Amino acid sequence: MLPATAPTLRLTRRGRLVASATAVVLLLLVGGWVAGRSSPDGPAPPQGTAGDPAAISPTVQPRIPRIAAADAAPEDAPAGGAGSDPAGGAESGAGSDPAAAAGAASNTTVPVAESEVAQAGTGRLVAVPGTRSETDQAGRLVSYRVLIEEGLTVAGGPVDGALLAETVHGILTAPQGWQGLDGVRFRGVDGPQADVDVVIAAPNTVDRLCAPLGTGGQLSCFNGSAAVLNARRWFAGAATYGQDLVAYRTYLVSHEVGHYLGHQHQDCPGQGLPAPVMVQQTKSLDGCLANPWPNPAG
Ligand SMILES: [Zn+2]
Repeated sequence: MLPATAPTLRLTRRGRLVASATAVVLLLLVGGWVAGRSSPDGPAPPQGTAGDPAAISPTVQPRIPRIAAADAAPEDAPAGGAGSDPAGGAESGAGSDPAAAAGAASNTTVPVAESEVAQAGTGRLVAVPGTRSETDQAGRLVSYRVLIEEGLTVAGGPVDGALLAETVHGILTAPQGWQGLDGVRFRGVDGPQADVDVVIAAPNTVDRLCAPLGTGGQLSCFNGSAAVLNARRWFAGAATYGQDLVAYRTYLVSHEVGHYLGHQHQDCPGQGLPAPVMVQQTKSLDGCLANPWPNPAG
């Protein structure tokens, strides 16, 4: 009687090749699956599903215990928001003040050099004060808060928090965004009751907030209940979008908040087609065309 392993041992050369190839394919499949599941810019989405009002707040269990909330109680927010750092010279009208001129760099809509974006801030997140109204349409209300890392600088100047929050709001409430698709409407708030946080932070802090996902100082993520956007990408853009920083930011917000709404990663459906917004477009378009919107025809 031959041992059970005999057939393997007696494989022909062709058989061995087939077996090897099969093993390689299996490894690739498993590897791809693992990579997809643990991808830095998109871990497994929260349990909340669009259209289920009860699902959002209670069941979205942050894997980071509301780091953002803990670090950014509203009472911590200075009156002028993150852009009002007195050391940063955010006040307008000081045209000859080098600090003020540098502060204007954060208002750019063309990419800056990566080296212009601070590698680290203080690690403390500050809510942009004020509210931003939802649009006049049907849909489940989803509140979000914009948090900016204190001490985050671009070209040595502070970040204009109000402008940044307006940009995020414009993206979230645009007709081409998630609202129409998912039956939601977004309201900007500045308190810890927000359903989801949109964080803009320096690379070092992003790595901390995204852990255990590996963002490597370069990528963004969705983790817990926070869309954590890497300031390096927000201000320097990504190769896949070239100089079109406005479109790239639209992608970044739409993609990461898409995870909050329960959307998972997608693949490019075919060469030359618009990339679905849940394709990891920072990494590669994989033959697709850049597309920043969930609902381009909206
Ligand atoms: Zn993702």
